[in-house]
Amino acid sequence: ASSVDAADDMPLLRIEGVSKSFGSFRAVDRLSLDIGAGEFFALLGPSGCGKTTLLRMLAGFETPDEGRILLGGRDIAPVLPHERPVNMMFQNYALFPHLNVRDNIAFGLKRAGMPRAAIDTRVAEMVALVKLGGMEKRKPDQLSGGQKQRVALARSLARRPKVLLLDEPLAALDKKLRESTQLELMELQRRLGMTFIIVTHDQEEAMTMASRIGVMDAGRLQQVATPRDLYEAPATRWVAEFVGDVNLFEGEVSSHEHHRLTVATRDGGAIVVTDPRQPITKTSVTVAVRPEKVKLSRRGPASDADNSQAINRLEGVVTDVGYLGGSTVYKIKLDSGAVVRSSMANTARLDIDTLRAGQRVLAWFTPDDCVVLEQ
Ligand code: ATP
Repeated sequence: ASSVDAADDMPLLRIEGVSKSFGSFRAVDRLSLDIGAGEFFALLGPSGCGKTTLLRMLAGFETPDEGRILLGGRDIAPVLPHERPVNMMFQNYALFPHLNVRDNIAFGLKRAGMPRAAIDTRVAEMVALVKLGGMEKRKPDQLSGGQKQRVALARSLARRPKVLLLDEPLAALDKKLRESTQLELMELQRRLGMTFIIVTHDQEEAMTMASRIGVMDAGRLQQVATPRDLYEAPATRWVAEFVGDVNLFEGEVSSHEHHRLTVATRDGGAIVVTDPRQPITKTSVTVAVRPEKVKLSRRGPASDADNSQAINRLEGVVTDVGYLGGSTVYKIKLDSGAVVRSSMANTARLDIDTLRAGQRVLAWFTPDDCVVLEQ
């Protein structure tokens, strides 16, 4: 494994134009991606988009039909799965039911021919790392879901791989345990400085844990970005809808001047948008506005400062109020017939706290709050 040290000018992992088909179905389609040493990277996408297939190619359980996978600058095609400095933690944990915790963790070390004393030391280290002290003698069927998950994690870390692949590692845990385990995994990854690649279809999970996210659909990467950029600057309409909630307005660009774009919407209105980062080449566009950017007011924008910002004003009637604890989501049926969602933090704002279904309201947002999407 020591032969795969990262060269200075190469990312730890480089995926170059990799494809994989099953029969005539292309599960992964000419996908390229670089992942650096020490990154916590999430592959996010709907069921069946090819996430697991990509992980299995990295682990060596599937062979790409075309393209190359380089680890530390070397093509790993000829390297057998158990000889790769890459380990995979499976969705169902895949523990050996007849082996106790200790022997499950020790399995890969034994197979690699590590001396017994060194195995004992390493297993003790791993047991402490995942906080399973005192459970070494238990068999998997005497463990809770969360404990099984820890054994699987300890086993996959025991050989100190350079890259750990985690396929939906938290899917079997309940919500509370999943959230605390997310934080523990992040802590562990930071402490070990290892590269983690996690597969998930849960966007909150990806946003919480990963430093970068690759959004996959139909075997291709739609966008690779930090959680913040994915949310604030989605590259496509598909990404905007997949990551978080969003209001979409379709229309045509009617003017473009003074760093402002005006979009004439289908319902006869107009939305003013600050110049997009990317030059717009099409006239048919979609304007995306996140619900928390849409402010509501019963008497018009609350202050003069707000007033000058309230360039995009939409009038309508509140149809639904959904209280979520930290925030409340309002659905507004606009006079044009379209529906807009607004999400407001539940801080003391008396004007809004009294908003109820049936009341007329002004929904407004600034040109900076909008993202223009061409596809
Ligand atoms: P999920 O989140 O549901 O696990 P995924 O994004 O991980 O989905 P993959 O498991 O990579 O998706 O599968 C991608 C596609 O390839 C699916 O349509 C699946 O049915 C198909 N597929 C995967 N493995 C095989 C196989 N061995 N033979 C035939 N088809 C396969």
